[in-house]
Amino acid sequence: MKVQFLGGADEIGRSAVLIDDSLLLDYGMAAESPPQYPVGDVNPDAVVVSHGHLDHAGAVPALMSSGDLPPVHWTPPTRDLATTLAEDTLKLHGSTPRCPFTDTDIRRLTQASVTHGYGEPFEAAGYEITLYNAGHIPGSAHVLVDDSEVRRTSGNRTQSDDGDTRLLYTGDFHTGDQRLVAPSTARPEADAVVCESTYSDVTHEPRDTVEQRFAESVQQTVWEGGTVVVPAFAIGRTQEAMLVCAAHDIDCYVDGMGQRVTEQLKRHPDFLRDADALRGATSSARFVTGRDGQRKRIAEQNTVIITTSGMLSGGPAMTYVPAIRHHPTNKVALTGYQVEGTPGRDLLDTGSAELDGRVLPVSAQVELHEFSAHADRDGLVGFLDSYRDTPVLAVHGDRTAAFAEELRDDGFSASAPELGETVEL
Ligand SMILES: [Zn+2]
Repeated sequence: MKVQFLGGADEIGRSAVLIDDSLLLDYGMAAESPPQYPVGDVNPDAVVVSHGHLDHAGAVPALMSSGDLPPVHWTPPTRDLATTLAEDTLKLHGSTPRCPFTDTDIRRLTQASVTHGYGEPFEAAGYEITLYNAGHIPGSAHVLVDDSEVRRTSGNRTQSDDGDTRLLYTGDFHTGDQRLVAPSTARPEADAVVCESTYSDVTHEPRDTVEQRFAESVQQTVWEGGTVVVPAFAIGRTQEAMLVCAAHDIDCYVDGMGQRVTEQLKRHPDFLRDADALRGATSSARFVTGRDGQRKRIAEQNTVIITTSGMLSGGPAMTYVPAIRHHPTNKVALTGYQVEGTPGRDLLDTGSAELDGRVLPVSAQVELHEFSAHADRDGLVGFLDSYRDTPVLAVHGDRTAAFAEELRDDGFSASAPELGETVEL
């Protein structure tokens, strides 16, 4: 089995792994300016998408522009989320050459889509594929690729020998608790593991500690008469924050793309940890449908507002944060890691940030609550413990080489492929 890393190898963003020039796992984009896409030209026979985040699914519509549509295999939530992301990307970049796909490509993606549940093997480009719950966001999957019964009938396959390799591509995963999704527990047998390593040098606090501190902090501000803005990613984090608020009887508004995503996820109860809890959290939350006038009025209330974007790089947060920034009674409660160079990170580090084109000092309190949806170092090593005798390829991190070395010191056979590298298994 020949495995080529077209993106998301020694970096986070634009994940893409090509198997034998035929089967593509993920095709993401990095939302930098300008956006970054996987390297090389691909013309896959089939695509499997691990989950519906931009850096794994964002560029999939670009595969729909040539004549033959490769089937795109994913879970039902991943299909819905990827479609929402594609429409959003088109809205942001559609009129520029930065967007590698059109609305026609998005429509064709619907035709190419084939959905699967967890634990139900299917065939893609001749390989047997099985998806397992990855515990990251609803619909997220570990992808097991088995070439032992590979049928060589389709496409641009040139090899003729049957293989005997089972490759486990972890995608993004979490082995710890979240309210929205159950943790990853499946450890299918594999001959090689391509493992994400986002937090390979980080130890997260226990989730209930993080949650308790967040709830107390938010409640405190509300009791003191302040307004709390909770910046959150639309996919996963917004719903997690809603569930946490509901569990602690905290009334909240929800604004931004997270509203639509919440409605989409409610249609897939089988992929949620507790569908009733999300339904309950949705009915107790107040969804904001109005314009900036309504947002400014809400920002004056003694309340909690969960809104995109998670790192303050856009979205309705651009109205809320400037509106509440003058008063130290108010609070910005960030809900996850803030990437270097984002306004969220600047706000944490310096107390001011560029919001909607203006650098603004913020007198409101600013806090970071680490609601991670990824395994931390212990989670990664705990997962890999089931694969002690299996080669591990560390990807999707900003220190993959260091992590691979640490794994080798721990007795693993581990390496860190580079962008564009091909590995023979
Ligand atoms: Zn992800």
